[in-house]
Amino acid sequence: MDLQLTAEQQAFRAEVRAFIQERLPQDIRDRLRAGHPPRKEDTVRWQRILNERGWAAPHWPRRFGGAELGQAERLILMDELYRAPAPLPQVFNITMLGPVLMKFGTPAQCEHFLPKLANLDLWFCQGFSEPGSGSDLASLRTAARREGDHYIVNGQKIWTTTAHWADWTFALVRTDPEARKQEGISFLLIDLKSPGITIRPITSIDGEHHLNEVFFDEVRVPVANLVGQENKGWDCAKFLLGNERTGIANVGLCRERLDHARAVAERTPQGAGRLIDDALGAAGTAGLRLGAQAQGRGTAARHQRAAGPHRRPLGAGAPWQRRHRARAAHAALLLLARGQHLRRHQRGAEGHPVQVHPGLRRQHAI
Ligand SMILES: Cc1cc2nc3c(=O)[nH]c(=O)nc-3n(C[C@H](O)[C@H](O)[C@H](O)COP(=O)(O)OP(=O)(O)OC[C@H]3O[C@@H](n4cnc5c(N)ncnc54)[C@H](O)[C@@H]3O)c2cc1C
Repeated sequence: MDLQLTAEQQAFRAEVRAFIQERLPQDIRDRLRAGHPPRKEDTVRWQRILNERGWAAPHWPRRFGGAELGQAERLILMDELYRAPAPLPQVFNITMLGPVLMKFGTPAQCEHFLPKLANLDLWFCQGFSEPGSGSDLASLRTAARREGDHYIVNGQKIWTTTAHWADWTFALVRTDPEARKQEGISFLLIDLKSPGITIRPITSIDGEHHLNEVFFDEVRVPVANLVGQENKGWDCAKFLLGNERTGIANVGLCRERLDHARAVAERTPQGAGRLIDDALGAAGTAGLRLGAQAQGRGTAARHQRAAGPHRRPLGAGAPWQRRHRARAAHAALLLLARGQHLRRHQRGAEGHPVQVHPGLRRQHAI
């Protein structure tokens, strides 16, 4: 089976690479290269540049501001963004809500929201999960009762990524408490500036603030903000989750991190040579090479599948891909651990000890 990109796809990759090279602001590239996540303003600034080309929403129809790219071209674009590295288009707007509006929304909703989603004039977040309703999402309890032209919303969402940056949320709410659980849910667009909304931060294990709790206390939401039919929100949710869960493999990100780890190891001195040359570094490099090959193969296979006549959703990675990613990540970790070990010894009396996990130390005698 030929897993190579076609000549057109290779030309498209070159076009994307040149565009990014020319237009990506250097400060954003530097911040991401140093391992920081993009700030809100980085994503907004860059997405607006992409949007001039239709690449903020690459798979959307042109009439809604997209570029009508096929799956293979879309993957190439994502790969190149990761590689740069550059922020990806804001996922809640582009991958999740946009397609839901095109499939279930009214023409007025499409006209009003889609251009704003593409240009990040509005930042949406995803209000699905609740305490006790994660995997069993259909058990959600945030309630919306109808009063004239409004729903009155009461309840709580949790793990809401970037709610503290967001202007709006798309939320699943229970509009019929008597119906079977999947049949009493509706999909609402809620302005987060509405009275009665409280957003509280959750600090995650990395010490960062990405996640939030969002509380709704008698929040009035116009009925015009209902997407699809009342009590049919589960259809929107299933469609949205299908798009969300097929786009989270992050192969390109993994490859960029590995390339970066290799570059650091190549310029880090060790004794008379470089970190990359030492025994552990060499073992790590073999792992890196394996990992990179596996990812290359995985990407080519995905391109091939996506370009084929039977377009299938792209999974989050076959078991062998995950195995290779784990091996590659392990190799990168070894390099980092070795680097930290060296730095600790170089700093010596100056203090600033760097912690290496005891298990790694035992396993690799460092
Ligand atoms: C980084 C991050 C960002 C997120 N961002 C958002 C967001 O923006 N918006 C949003 O709505 N949600 C968000 N989530 C929530 C996410 O979608 C939920 O975490 C997910 O749905 C799982 O729910 P839970 O955490 O409540 O786990 P649970 O449902 O409590 O599951 C815990 C464990 O039990 C297992 N389990 C559950 N049920 C069963 C069963 N019946 N049989 C066997 N095993 C079972 C699960 O596999 C899991 O391992 C985010 C989560 C994370 C980690």
